Amino acid sequence: MKKPSARTKSLIAKGRKYYTAAYKPREMILDRGKGALAWDLDGNDYVDLGAGIAVSALGHHRREMLDALMGQAKKLWHTSNIYFTAPPVLLAEELVKSSKFARRVFLTNSGGEANEAAIKLARKYAADKGRPAQQRNIVTFTGSFHGRTLATVTATAQPKYQAGFEPLPPGFRYCPFNDFAAASRMIDSTVCAVLIEPVQGEGGITPAKPGFLKHLQELCHKHDALLMLDEVQCGMGRCGALFAYFAERGVKPDVVTLAKALGGGIPIGAMLVGEKAENVFQYGSHGSTFGGNPLACAVARVVLQKLQTKTLQKNIRERGTQLASALAAINNRHGVFSEIRGRGLMIGAELSDPHKGKASDIVETARSHGVLVLQAGPNVLRFLPPLTITEKEMKEGVKRLEQAIQTHIGPPSLRA
Ligand SMILES: *Cc1c(COP(=O)(O)O)cnc(C)c1O
Repeated sequence: MKKPSARTKSLIAKGRKYYTAAYKPREMILDRGKGALAWDLDGNDYVDLGAGIAVSALGHHRREMLDALMGQAKKLWHTSNIYFTAPPVLLAEELVKSSKFARRVFLTNSGGEANEAAIKLARKYAADKGRPAQQRNIVTFTGSFHGRTLATVTATAQPKYQAGFEPLPPGFRYCPFNDFAAASRMIDSTVCAVLIEPVQGEGGITPAKPGFLKHLQELCHKHDALLMLDEVQCGMGRCGALFAYFAERGVKPDVVTLAKALGGGIPIGAMLVGEKAENVFQYGSHGSTFGGNPLACAVARVVLQKLQTKTLQKNIRERGTQLASALAAINNRHGVFSEIRGRGLMIGAELSDPHKGKASDIVETARSHGVLVLQAGPNVLRFLPPLTITEKEMKEGVKRLEQAIQTHIGPPSLRA
């Protein structure tokens, strides 16, 4: 790594001074990218195995996305949802057709907003049926993550995200993830919706057990509740298929939320609604000034189209296998992981006992070796590379990761 320049140091100092301290960005200023590579202001290169957080699905600086963005930018930036424009209308059609269940779409700017819309939709679904407020509970799961707005952080069943923000809105119930019996107990006639990530992201890359979504679907059916899938992180090709729920046969959700990869780096989110609840939102029920912005939608249309190509889906499978076996090989040599899990290009490596709590340190060492990886909780290294990553980029990324791990744990002779 080159030494940080005066400009890098000055920008970091300003960021520390003028941002609220809600984030703790790493000591570099990222400046440009291409494919799965990114460069900082000082010219250091990084293999990006995080894609932001599962956002840059088609990699950085992709020609087709740039053309779509520039093409729209030269025509019209914004009009408000009181008028139609072509890109959001066409994106809504394409989302409905590719989802296999949806009838209608509400476009937002982020995942949190998409989930917020879903929560409001679920409450109104029950209200429309004459159910009083006490019978509009929403069940979510331990280890989940649904966003940072007050309602979505309440849906997020992890105390660390909620502490200090009380009073939290009522009407949420937390069920242990993948616990069939607990779900049967908790989902009763006072529940209007179940919100779940088919593969938990922030919680540690934990897939729902086979049959769990189906089980929830049956309980929802029995109690007239909506099955709502948060695919903000695990959707849009990340797990191999366009939607993560495609992996489980017979599951037909009522609502699916999307964001992150949908815009390939441009802010956008979406709530997809199936037949059961398609008429819940009526004129005036909900709104968003920027949701469905033509610039974002023009880019999202390109992303959605690319994600459905056979070549990209093949790449997700092949690079996913490459990454998982490279991590297994690293583990054979260094014994740092207790488990490597996930699907497609959504992979988590849980640190073994002697390295527990060290994910954050390893992430930082990896950065200083030129590879960007993420963590999920204190013990899991999380990999969410661009879905377009090449074999060569992946190979270089895991090579740098191994160097970082070696540096981190010290030479074999010093290990216990
Ligand atoms: C990131 C994330 C969100 C929140 O999305 P924002 O765009 O940050 O509001 C919600 N759900 C899941 C599963 C996520 O990973």
